[in-house]
Amino acid sequence: MPAATPAAPGSTNDAATGMPPGVSGEPDLSAAAGPWQADPARYDAMRWRRSGRSGLRLPEISLGLWHNFGGTDDPVRARTLLRRAFDLGIVHLDLANNYGPPPGSAELTLGRWLREEMQAHREELFISTKAGYRMGPGPYGDGGSRKYLLDSLDQSLRRLGLPHVDLYYHHRPDAETPLEETMAALAHVVRSGRARYVGLSNYPAELAARAIALLQAEGTPCLIHQPRYNLLERTPEQGLLQTLQTHGVGCIPFSPLAQGLLTDRYLAGVIPADSRAGRPGTFLQPAALTEPRLAAARALQQVAAARGQPLAGLALRWLLQQPAVTTVLIGASKVEQLETAVAAIHAPALSDEELGAVDAAVKMPA
Ligand code: NDP
Repeated sequence: MPAATPAAPGSTNDAATGMPPGVSGEPDLSAAAGPWQADPARYDAMRWRRSGRSGLRLPEISLGLWHNFGGTDDPVRARTLLRRAFDLGIVHLDLANNYGPPPGSAELTLGRWLREEMQAHREELFISTKAGYRMGPGPYGDGGSRKYLLDSLDQSLRRLGLPHVDLYYHHRPDAETPLEETMAALAHVVRSGRARYVGLSNYPAELAARAIALLQAEGTPCLIHQPRYNLLERTPEQGLLQTLQTHGVGCIPFSPLAQGLLTDRYLAGVIPADSRAGRPGTFLQPAALTEPRLAAARALQQVAAARGQPLAGLALRWLLQQPAVTTVLIGASKVEQLETAVAAIHAPALSDEELGAVDAAVKMPA
């Protein structure tokens, strides 16, 4: 996934945060977002799954900060979403160096929350970040070299105000860097204490298998793989999921709702102004809302309605029914969306008949 806004070439970044001047140093948000104390019942509604054959359990719902948590987004809404997620047991928060806009600012948003309200709860969170897409100018701002991966993580840690993250990913394959160098850099990240675990994202099946073997040989097993996987995007079923299961690696599908297409947002054929497709600068272009995709979404909505479930709930429940899946990595712009996601984990499993109806809906002729 490309950076939301490329770093301005030649800009002078803050030495401590790696950010352009003027982005950090905003006022305390705790008062603006209203009083809050972590809910003592926050672990009651969540369910947990082990990631592959590791010892780590993750919540069935995880939250990504790709959209809605940048320096140009409403900071009070971002704070409210983070609080509600934590209170629902969504303790896994996913970042990347380039999430914003501007790039890096989603890490600053999370860092401020940790500093201002979460000092007592840091160890209850499982925080991931990544490098692999373009983050800065020049040859060291992109790719899979040891230099880029280590420098970028050091910058992420400064923005987050943390000594380590829980999980560090290579964000996408880099054909120009030897795989051995990239995997050795990831292993070094764990050995040096900068991350507890490492993972891969957007690696196709065969390359993932080689990377997993290299990490194993380094003594730092791959914890999890993060592919795009949802009812409308089934490529991981062509080998990747099997590879992950064979090697005992977890799977955390990103964009499980196809960025909102697998919700009731666009079913009526209009693009709401406050939706991702309706806002400029996002990665859901109106052109992606094709008639065949909308028709599939409408057919899926019928299946969901017959189960008494919203379409978003059906899409998440279906993914959680896939044996390779550890947790689903959602995005959210409203607390109600977080609540819909957590409700989905308690919905009954899809029957064989419902699974057939789902497959028929997504295979409808264009
Ligand atoms: P989703 O497919 O879950 O899309 C989330 C968006 O869908 C929300 O922001 C919201 O958009 C809409 N939505 C969610 N729930 C509902 C609902 N119940 N009703 C109506 N609309 C709803 O995931 P994302 O595409 O946001 O990706 C999730 C995370 O995955 C990212 O934050 C990131 O961490 C990770 N990711 C990783 C990538 C990689 O290369 N490794 C690439 C992309 C994402 P709105 O309300 O604004 O319309």
